[in-house]
Amino acid sequence: MSASLPPCALCGQSAFELRFPGNIGDDIGSRFSQYAYYDDIYRCRVCGLVVQHRRHDPATIAGLLKAEKYLDEAIGELNLREKHVQFETLLGLVETFRPLEGQRVLDVGANTGLFLSMARRKAASVRGVEPSREAAENARRTFGLDVQDCLIAEADLPDAAFDMVTLFDVVEHLTDPAGDLAFLARKVAPGGLLFLSTHDIGTWLARLSGPGYPMLMYQHFFHFTPHTLGLMVEKAGFKVLGHRRFLKSWSVEYIYNLIEKKWPGSRRSRLLRAVLAPLVSIDSIRRARITSPQRDFFILAAERLPGAAER
Ligand SMILES: [Zn+2]
Repeated sequence: MSASLPPCALCGQSAFELRFPGNIGDDIGSRFSQYAYYDDIYRCRVCGLVVQHRRHDPATIAGLLKAEKYLDEAIGELNLREKHVQFETLLGLVETFRPLEGQRVLDVGANTGLFLSMARRKAASVRGVEPSREAAENARRTFGLDVQDCLIAEADLPDAAFDMVTLFDVVEHLTDPAGDLAFLARKVAPGGLLFLSTHDIGTWLARLSGPGYPMLMYQHFFHFTPHTLGLMVEKAGFKVLGHRRFLKSWSVEYIYNLIEKKWPGSRRSRLLRAVLAPLVSIDSIRRARITSPQRDFFILAAERLPGAAER
């Protein structure tokens, strides 16, 4: 059943159990970025890493990521406000480990550049890497940021030149997370910090949701817990300092606008929008925030060990 999977990216063993049979069918092109559509998902019996079977080679995946349009991420007022709230939370959590003042920051998966534009107020310098050509161009044009559009392994960056490297909702999208983290370890100065945020596949919310957990999607090739992500990071030459759990929240107005994009023209989206329309017209309700019922996202902090650059 698991014969088509490569050895486990964390422990190197080949002992997988099928957790969720895939439901994506053959229409991967149009469902590459949709929630709740995925290929077969397995769990390593040895180390617990959760991995999705991939039908494409890394070069094809890279092409799809570079062509991403992030239509929902376009720089509209509403999206900017939503992302601003999320990044304020993440910045606050980063600073529980080390203040940003004077730090040379590299954001990997920089998207349209909003996080770097916020970090720049305190940091000594900021740079970004982002696979989506459109998003990177947005970051350069809108904020005047230095953002390269390429994969991590293709990035032209000096060694040992960064004090903080951040990957927010990125590690689950990587086809070779161990290789990419080892590459980034060479870019971090000794004593520098690595921060990664992702969803936790081990929470009761994920378990209760089972095959319907929205974070199960084709371009999430791996699903971590703080434990498995910690092991992956240590394998790359870092020492884990700890992790913090956090809630994501969305305004009613944002969710209302997202419905039509996620389920365009469907009966479900028409019904939902009809029910919500009178509520969204009320100011206090439109601005109210809906939070996930559990802290199912976490940020993990790790410090680069001396010698990581020589590995
Ligand atoms: Zn394993």
